[in-house]
Amino acid sequence: MRLEINGWASKITFSATHIIPMHSKCGRLHGHDYAINASIEGEIGPDGVIMDFISVKEFLRSVASELDHRVLIPAKDKRVKVSKDYVEYLIGDKKLSIPRSDCIMLDIYVASAETLAEFVLKRMLDKVKFPKNVKRIEIGVDEGRGQGAWTGQDL
Ligand SMILES: [Zn+2]
Repeated sequence: MRLEINGWASKITFSATHIIPMHSKCGRLHGHDYAINASIEGEIGPDGVIMDFISVKEFLRSVASELDHRVLIPAKDKRVKVSKDYVEYLIGDKKLSIPRSDCIMLDIYVASAETLAEFVLKRMLDKVKFPKNVKRIEIGVDEGRGQGAWTGQDL
């Protein structure tokens, strides 16, 4: 049995700016409306449900609000330099200098839908307690409607 949370319908969305270094079109600073989706697989419990998914939705909304209206900075990229007030991102002959307060530093090496999905999954496995009947969690991050990346882990 599978429980699905659609980020668009559940308003688990955020708007953010990113750049994919050296990519032809996505190598320019630009933004998307993103949604975070989730899928929870497991056995139905004696109460007739896999789990109460309100806590999962609340958790995902808190992650979305953390990322909302920020520039997504991949902190693991060696071209990223952080000073007190600014984040500098040196990509080829481009130098981006962005106020630190407009950025969110993420423990990823490139800010793609794929790595954002991995980031949300990892965070969720750290913070949300799942009942024993839950066997697998998947997270999908959509970059605009109808296109996204999914990742998952068996529990
Ligand atoms: Zn993009």
